[in-house]
Amino acid sequence: MRFLSGIQPSGTPHLGNYFGAILQHVETSRSLGPDDSAFFFIADYHALTTTQDPEKLRALVTDVAATYVALGLDVDKALLFRQSDVPEVCELAWLLSTVTGMGLLERATSYKDKVSKGLASSVGLFTYPILMAADIVAYDSDVVPVGQDQQQHVEMTHDMVVHFNATYHAEALKRPEWKLSPTPRVCGTDSVSSKMSKSYNNTISIFADGKDLKKQVNAIVTDSRPPEVAKDPLSLAVFQLLALFLSVDERADWEQRLRQGGVGYGDLKKEIMTRMDARFGEARARRQHLVTTAQGQEELEIVLQRGGRAARRVAATTLARCYRAVGMDNAARRLGGAPA
Ligand code: AMP
Repeated sequence: MRFLSGIQPSGTPHLGNYFGAILQHVETSRSLGPDDSAFFFIADYHALTTTQDPEKLRALVTDVAATYVALGLDVDKALLFRQSDVPEVCELAWLLSTVTGMGLLERATSYKDKVSKGLASSVGLFTYPILMAADIVAYDSDVVPVGQDQQQHVEMTHDMVVHFNATYHAEALKRPEWKLSPTPRVCGTDSVSSKMSKSYNNTISIFADGKDLKKQVNAIVTDSRPPEVAKDPLSLAVFQLLALFLSVDERADWEQRLRQGGVGYGDLKKEIMTRMDARFGEARARRQHLVTTAQGQEELEIVLQRGGRAARRVAATTLARCYRAVGMDNAARRLGGAPA
């Protein structure tokens, strides 16, 4: 079984990324069997659709890599790499774009969401699902562990694969399946119905601490009802966010206390901070070392380059197969693929 997933370096990784994706990626990397492999990439090409500040992009790529390593991704078993270290995905995206109807992309809810929230609608943002499909198929992935917001993109990949293979009467590309985490949609700090997202400014960073953590947690929107008033836990963003850290029994206990009355929003916020310190404290220190020391940065660079080289070999083989399917044997030869 081959697993593939990516994360954009377009902002500091947040609790939505962690509970929706990263936690699952780390666990997957640690439980890979002898016939399994896992590819995790930092989607820097994708990030250009929202981040156009070179210094910021550099820092965020390092941040995402450090986040994965600090949280315990097993980099001896799984590959961690930068998307741009595998330029073959851009060529593959072009091939896929020639068999993808405009209608398919127009149905992408993530594009519509982003534009409705005021993001400039570049061509890159619109064709994002094609590049994402190229990322997925380049490595012959079987399973794509993602949050709910990305599920539709994996389904679109399915469609593109079917079209490509049918157009060229070849089984050139493999169809992947998505896999949701147990918490596939983490709400934002603004409301229980919003999605936590770097684009919407409603995040809590995984590694925030001290005053910064307090500021982010205090920004969770609540109302003016006093502690003694009974509340429906499911309607509260502050409870939904705390619940991410609770066991089943703990959750039932907090829910009951909220329904009875007697729990204030301040109590919930304080508990979130305590849980975050407990869960991320050690990883926070590891991340700090990786990001701020020359030794740490070198360590990350070694991991990323090793991952990039291995991923590129696989992507080149897939791309050569596609070039042969479409009749561009010269391009396949350039990649080292055998002529048709
Ligand atoms: P992105 O930062 O958009 O590249 O997302 C990286 C991964 O985090 C993807 O698998 C997303 O599905 C997941 N993710 C992002 N935001 C959330 C959220 N609010 N809840 C659950 N998963 C999320």
